[in-house]
Amino acid sequence: MTSAVHRIESALRGLRATRAEVDLDALSGNIRALKSRRPATTTFMAVIKANAYGHGSVPVARAFLDAGATHLAVATVGEGRRLRAHRITAPIMILGSIDPWEADEAVALNIDLAIATHDLYDAVLAAAIEQGKQARIHVKVDTGLKRYGAPPEIATELARRAMNDETIQFVGLFTHFASSDEADPAFTLDQHAKLRKLQDAWAAEGIRPEDVHCCNSGATVWSDFDGMVRPGMIMYGVPPSDDIPLLPSMRPALTLRSRVQRTFVVESGESVGYNRTWFSDRRRQAALIPVGYADGYRRELSSKGWVDISGHRCDVLGRVSMDQIVVGIPDEADVTVGTEVIVMGGDGSSAAPTIEQVARLVGTNPYEILTGITARVPRVYRRGGAVVEIEDLLA
Ligand SMILES: *Cc1c(COP(=O)(O)O)cnc(C)c1O
Repeated sequence: MTSAVHRIESALRGLRATRAEVDLDALSGNIRALKSRRPATTTFMAVIKANAYGHGSVPVARAFLDAGATHLAVATVGEGRRLRAHRITAPIMILGSIDPWEADEAVALNIDLAIATHDLYDAVLAAAIEQGKQARIHVKVDTGLKRYGAPPEIATELARRAMNDETIQFVGLFTHFASSDEADPAFTLDQHAKLRKLQDAWAAEGIRPEDVHCCNSGATVWSDFDGMVRPGMIMYGVPPSDDIPLLPSMRPALTLRSRVQRTFVVESGESVGYNRTWFSDRRRQAALIPVGYADGYRRELSSKGWVDISGHRCDVLGRVSMDQIVVGIPDEADVTVGTEVIVMGGDGSSAAPTIEQVARLVGTNPYEILTGITARVPRVYRRGGAVVEIEDLLA
């Protein structure tokens, strides 16, 4: 046994039963599927903010870069710091706004910044001059999302400054779509037209940023807008909305798994869980699973959610606790302590709910469910079925 395999085997033995398993082959396959859907010239900025949508940023960054992404995107300086600390040297961009006092560190880490105000531009310029290096910026124009982004006039002022300042490397112009995950493309087409108009006006002045980018998951799937794309959710194999289907060969990468920790009988008339919200109408078997809302298993799933145990759908009985749930076991099921549980996720072939189904039960979107899987859930990575890496953020 090689030492790496040995290390993984022993780490697996000591691991908490509840863990998120991430199929790295699915991530690679998903980005390849998207690449084959786009022109060969399309470059990919893989969006791995929020700990790679809960999947774990470092192994996921490596998987996407190996499978053809050239850029990475995060939301905070801390997320970028973590990637750089793990010797990831690819361009990393922070998509949103940072505070001026964060500019120093961002520039020191060689992180591309999204600029939409003169104030942030000033801070980045000062950091670059102070450090004697070039800072990489993308000007963000607002075309209708009305969140972070400059109006076109301000964007143009920023672009002119970037062209003149030698310590600024003017990398990109970009915008972000408000509703590209909806069936009606009208607003997205309008936003894209505004971006093109600005790009053309700049070209007439001789302002040509290296990259012009706009496509999030939805637009990456259905549009043929050119330039670099910035997909997030769909690369994890989860549709961003009901209107955006996965491409045929794509599949979800993450499965939240656990094991039965105890089995017991609930008599007819007995209640289960805090505040006695659920009563049994008959004698039945139940199982304790060590997953709760502090792991990201949402409390809204109380008496609503279900899990897969040995291929059986097992309903959550009563309240979801912080660290545990209780599920009913069908009479015909053979369940003992240690039996494997699929809590949620996977490709829909088990009896467990998909991430989209859980989101619907909770009344939110799949983004919130995936990013809500907390740091105390270890992430286990597989290639070709074998465990290749384990990430325990609390270790
Ligand atoms: C999060 C984000 C994306 C990716 O969005 P998905 O819907 O996950 O594809 C792209 N661009 C920006 C600016 C973002 O904030």
